[in-house]
Amino acid sequence: MSTTDGTLTLSSNEEFKVQSDLTWATAVYMKMRPEDAAFAEDIKCALLAIVQRQTIQQTAADIDKLMEISHGVALARGWYKNADGTPKPERNVGEQLLLMVSEIIEGFEGWRKNLPDDKLPHYPMITVELADLLHRLFDFAGYHKLQLGRAFIEKAIYNAMREDHSLTHRASEHGKKA
Ligand SMILES: [Mg+2]
Repeated sequence: MSTTDGTLTLSSNEEFKVQSDLTWATAVYMKMRPEDAAFAEDIKCALLAIVQRQTIQQTAADIDKLMEISHGVALARGWYKNADGTPKPERNVGEQLLLMVSEIIEGFEGWRKNLPDDKLPHYPMITVELADLLHRLFDFAGYHKLQLGRAFIEKAIYNAMREDHSLTHRASEHGKKA
């Protein structure tokens, strides 16, 4: 893939993969909003920026790989075992979700006080706490075998096209202000 003059140029193999991804992405959108056939072409435009960097399906697979990393580390460090080494019957979902919130709060404190991180002081604390958040999120998704990669991409498609996120709708009386 090259972008020497700002124009996307693909090899024949890449062209085939891009077309395959766009067909899949369009089908995803049409499944959600079958009445909006006229938007199908717009989807291709909205997704082209993503495709220029990396193919859509590869991105979904990469997210699943992050789940393997974070959940693998959590398993290896015994977070799914009791202190005596016996397996825990089941993780508490509420506890797992709240631990994600705790990372955001820690990050906010770092941001508020402009602190370096105490474990990795070459990074700002906000950066490392958000990395912690991602590890907890990917661990959670790995443990519960969520289809996070594909869902992430499908939601990006949905968000790119949803009417209630348009500037016109947001400017209306009951439009989202944030
Ligand atoms: Mg933390």
